[in-house]
Amino acid sequence: MKTICFLGECMVELRANDEDTMHQSFAGDVYNSAVYLKRCFGDVSTAIITAVGQDGLSDKMVNRFKCENIDPQFVFKHPSKAPGIYLIETDEKGERSFTYWRSDSAARKVVEFIDDKALERLLKADMFFFSGISLAVIEDIAREKFWQVLEKLKLAGVRVVFDPNYRARLWNSASEAKEQFDKAFSMANIALPGVEDFKELYGINSAQGVVEFCQPFQLEELIVKNGPESVISYSQGALLSHDIVPVTNVVDTTSAGDAFNGVYLGSRLIGQPISESIQLAAIAAGTVIQHPGAIAPKQAFIDAMSAANRQ
Ligand code: ADP
Repeated sequence: MKTICFLGECMVELRANDEDTMHQSFAGDVYNSAVYLKRCFGDVSTAIITAVGQDGLSDKMVNRFKCENIDPQFVFKHPSKAPGIYLIETDEKGERSFTYWRSDSAARKVVEFIDDKALERLLKADMFFFSGISLAVIEDIAREKFWQVLEKLKLAGVRVVFDPNYRARLWNSASEAKEQFDKAFSMANIALPGVEDFKELYGINSAQGVVEFCQPFQLEELIVKNGPESVISYSQGALLSHDIVPVTNVVDTTSAGDAFNGVYLGSRLIGQPISESIQLAAIAAGTVIQHPGAIAPKQAFIDAMSAANRQ
């Protein structure tokens, strides 16, 4: 059985039902990817490496992981911290805004929990995924240890996957993010950036520009996402453009990139070629954006994926 581990933060998501009540769910980039991977590839063992608290909501979150068949063996329980929370508000024009309470979350402490025993188990994985958000939330003092862990994983043959997922507000400065991303790209075997991230951080506006930026890092596989535009892949010297079918009734683009990442990696793990994996990942992302929130309803997602497979 192939195994992938996603390191990062899952948060409590709150959305207003009406004036007085809120709908509560769970979301976070790596969690979203893990969910969609597992929904498409039940035979790929999928774990989240994170920290939660000892409160009721944390228990509910871990239960959610289990309901989505995500392996909780690397979900550590911090004795005093609690999960991060964010609130989605929609104004009268339909514009969404987000407020976060995550600066002191349990997940920021996750690296502290990766001891020799946990590392020994992690070394057996086929893939290890982390994002720019994972990097930003790890505390500064834990970064050195994080890079050491990654070094050991690479030496053991675990394939390292990175998506920059740049969120300016999580970083002290753009130069700090760039410095960390440089390290991440140098360590990665596979990178899955979006053009949007590069626009904001590096002023690079095209998929071609992203490919050029990534040249010095000698990635085995580079997949560049660009909203409804073609996905670009670069691997073993071959630069290919993959058309996708634009979705017309977009409801909410949250987690499009996350769904793409999860399904792409699952497909690669079971041995599918890059082109087929991109097509499947694009169908998954195109499905997710037709539903509100980060996690589309399970049955609707599975039905859409089976319908696409039959075509
Ligand atoms: P990120 O969240 O990483 O910035 P993108 O917005 O580039 O990701 O979108 C990720 C993937 O989602 C795209 O590569 C594409 O497959 C799919 N996608 C995004 N927007 C659309 C759209 N309007 N129509 C169809 N697919 C889309």
